[in-house]
Amino acid sequence: MSRQFPSHAQVVIIGGGVVGCSVAYHLTKLGWKDVVLLERKVLTSGTTWAAAGLVGQLWASSVLTKLAKYGTELYSRLEAETGQPTGFVRSGSLRVARTEARKSEYDRASGMARAFGVEIEQIGFEEARKLFPPMKTDDIVAVYYQPNDGHTSPVDTTRAMAEGARLGGASIFEEVKVTGITLKNNAVYAVNTDQGKITCEYVVNCGGMWAREIGEMIGVSVPLHAAEHMHITTSAMEGVYPGMPVLRDMDGYIYFKQEGEGLLMGGFEPMAKPWGMEGIPESFEFTELAEDWDQFEIFMTNAIQRCPAMEEAGILHFTVVPESFTPDNKYMLGEAPGVRNFFVAAGMNSVGIASAAGAGKAISEWIVAGHPTEDLWEVDIRRFHDWQANGRYLQDRVKESVGLLYADHWPYNQPKTARLARCSPVHFQLAARGACFGVVSGWERANWFAPEGVEPRYEYSWGRQNWFEYSAAEHMAVRTRVGVYDLTSMAKFRCQGRDAKAVLQRICANDIDVPIGKVVYTQLLNQRGGIEADLTITPLAEEDYFIVTTGAMEVRDFDWISRHIPEESQVFFTNMTSAYAMLGLMGPKARDLLSTLTDADLSNDAFPFATAQQIDFAYARILALRMSYVGELGWELYIPTEFAPGAFEALMTDGKQFGLRLVGLHAVDSLRLEKGYRHWGSDITPDDTPFEAGLSFAVKLDKGDFIGRAALIRQRASGLTRKLVMFTLEDPEPLLYHDEPIYRNGELISSVTHGAYAHLLGCAMGMGYLVHAERISDEWILSGRYEIDVEGTRIPAKAHLKAPYDPLGERVRM
Ligand SMILES: Cc1cc2nc3c(=O)[nH]c(=O)nc-3n(C[C@H](O)[C@H](O)[C@H](O)COP(=O)(O)OP(=O)(O)OC[C@H]3O[C@@H](n4cnc5c(N)ncnc54)[C@H](O)[C@@H]3O)c2cc1C
Repeated sequence: MSRQFPSHAQVVIIGGGVVGCSVAYHLTKLGWKDVVLLERKVLTSGTTWAAAGLVGQLWASSVLTKLAKYGTELYSRLEAETGQPTGFVRSGSLRVARTEARKSEYDRASGMARAFGVEIEQIGFEEARKLFPPMKTDDIVAVYYQPNDGHTSPVDTTRAMAEGARLGGASIFEEVKVTGITLKNNAVYAVNTDQGKITCEYVVNCGGMWAREIGEMIGVSVPLHAAEHMHITTSAMEGVYPGMPVLRDMDGYIYFKQEGEGLLMGGFEPMAKPWGMEGIPESFEFTELAEDWDQFEIFMTNAIQRCPAMEEAGILHFTVVPESFTPDNKYMLGEAPGVRNFFVAAGMNSVGIASAAGAGKAISEWIVAGHPTEDLWEVDIRRFHDWQANGRYLQDRVKESVGLLYADHWPYNQPKTARLARCSPVHFQLAARGACFGVVSGWERANWFAPEGVEPRYEYSWGRQNWFEYSAAEHMAVRTRVGVYDLTSMAKFRCQGRDAKAVLQRICANDIDVPIGKVVYTQLLNQRGGIEADLTITPLAEEDYFIVTTGAMEVRDFDWISRHIPEESQVFFTNMTSAYAMLGLMGPKARDLLSTLTDADLSNDAFPFATAQQIDFAYARILALRMSYVGELGWELYIPTEFAPGAFEALMTDGKQFGLRLVGLHAVDSLRLEKGYRHWGSDITPDDTPFEAGLSFAVKLDKGDFIGRAALIRQRASGLTRKLVMFTLEDPEPLLYHDEPIYRNGELISSVTHGAYAHLLGCAMGMGYLVHAERISDEWILSGRYEIDVEGTRIPAKAHLKAPYDPLGERVRM
């Protein structure tokens, strides 16, 4: 394609699949022309060529949906722009629900979709059969139609983006293999290839299933693994016509697409086959794997059930090609933690054609702007930890993650494979007491406790799940007596050294120049004033800070802080997560109970709220922080790991007299929401400022300069146009999870960031940002009539400016 092999480029993209070409295209669209794309064989010869080409807009979350929606927009206009046909057909698509539960999922998703301008409507069976004549409908509950979905030719679409990139100034080299990457001062410096070296400022790893080994060249963890992925094409079938909509039958794990006069049928099986355990052969190029009819049987059985003519149809071709999958079935975007200017866009989980446009645009904007231009946390590579590139873990997990795309997207769904990766030291003690565990960042965490005689096992549904009442009792125990939860998964860092205070003062919005032992709740902001992290910082000694953040943010927050430690400063920043267990002892009787296990004076005078002390606790010496994420009197007990099992037993023994109850993290979530505490990643993100999020109490503009201060000052002067508001549903029955549309005076205005059941209040609660272009005021917020859409029904809701439970925050200071 391009001839002159360069010795320097601003950006080198590794991989000429649909993702690499999309990144090249979008970088040039943003005006970056010194872009080089390297492909070890020829364009599309990895996985891209084999795709069925479905381009669906609606996925399980708002972020994925927004990115996929752009795909249909771009692919429909690329030909006019580049002269290269894409094969895009806006055929529309149908999705059927075989069960009431799946219908609930689609009804909820439809509400979310509308909030992002994705059209979807439920249609009748007759209309559905007209649109897709081979389909049988007598065993389904509902059908939905999305007129703007489509399908495209993966090879032609990739070529069109490559052509667009070339027209925009990019150079594309085929038959060039990247063999290594050179770093200087932890930043990208050069890419080594079998044709020579290219020095560069940025590298984008778009290596598909090779992305893990490309990351390994510089010690960057890219947790993905290949699995066999397959579809068949059939001979001519009655009723099939050009432009027929795509059909998804997720309960049967399958999809259909018109292919010539027949159908293309493939799917996402619940137990997949990992591939490439011994590495990917050097010769891999448009490679097909051996047919496996046993593996395909589950698809065939379901396909015949949905389209009976499949039974008699001839099979023209059986395609089996490996595709890369990630542990959570979501792709990976972003700058790798620990290495500057090394970006990753990979692990597409078989939605790479549909998502490449959005992913390529998002990562290009991130590179050019220096930060993501919209919230991408759900697909951010920093959600993964180093250890998750462990081969055995990936092989075990990928068997399950392939099927997650079409599986029921139950609220609180937990993985079944690759469990017991990271366990708290009291894990088996909790298990013996009925804990039902969920997983976050590999951590097994007790989400709820089954009473004696009840099996600790999830029974999923969109309504009240089997643990609802147990979790409600845990919730109430914390409100009325005392409860203990294990949050060992919290990430703990130590920031020490001569310049620790100065460095932290510059990245924290709150003032951390406080007396030793004072706990500071603070946000870390970006230059736009958006919230990058939400954590507590406690000076344990001069220039020695203990930092605690949530487990899911361990990699992200560690990376953010590390990147903001100037090279010349003397600071030692250490991840101490494994050093401590953390038990949260919370509730009005927490002081009485804790007093039985320590000689420390726990009175308000001696140990006030938001302070920390080293105390003796059972046989251990621990760090106790008087803080609360649940809105009650309580202490977070940071216990050296090896002391935790013994200390926990002592606590359980002494706790009996106070009615101590083990509490799971579902209850912690409902407690915190009821109290109006925010959660990073849903209620607060890099796109929200502390003022908008109602966290101005944690901002000290007058403490001196800090990152984001100038933006906050500007925002204060211009006034707010959006604000995070709490909502309670007036009907006690419906449940809120996330992304439910919020209506104000009958008009769709926003959606729920996160919802849960407020057990004390007796209704579901959620938060959401309200926007009012001409400055938002409390009067404007309170004067609205609100409804929240739950499964297609609008439920009246009440807006709250302050937490409806303990609005003055008196209980934590009891
Ligand atoms: C059977 C099947 C059906 C599918 N159907 C759909 C569908 O309907 N819709 C959908 O959206 N998605 C579908 N997909 C998924 C889609 O094909 C992938 O998600 C997508 O193609 C991934 O693109 P990529 O650019 O990440 O990877 P690839 O296309 O694999 O590109 C990566 C490239 O990197 C190159 N490379 C690797 N190492 C190096 C190196 N060291 N130096 C230089 N180059 C290197 C490789 O040669 C390769 O060409 C399907 C996949 C399969 C297998």
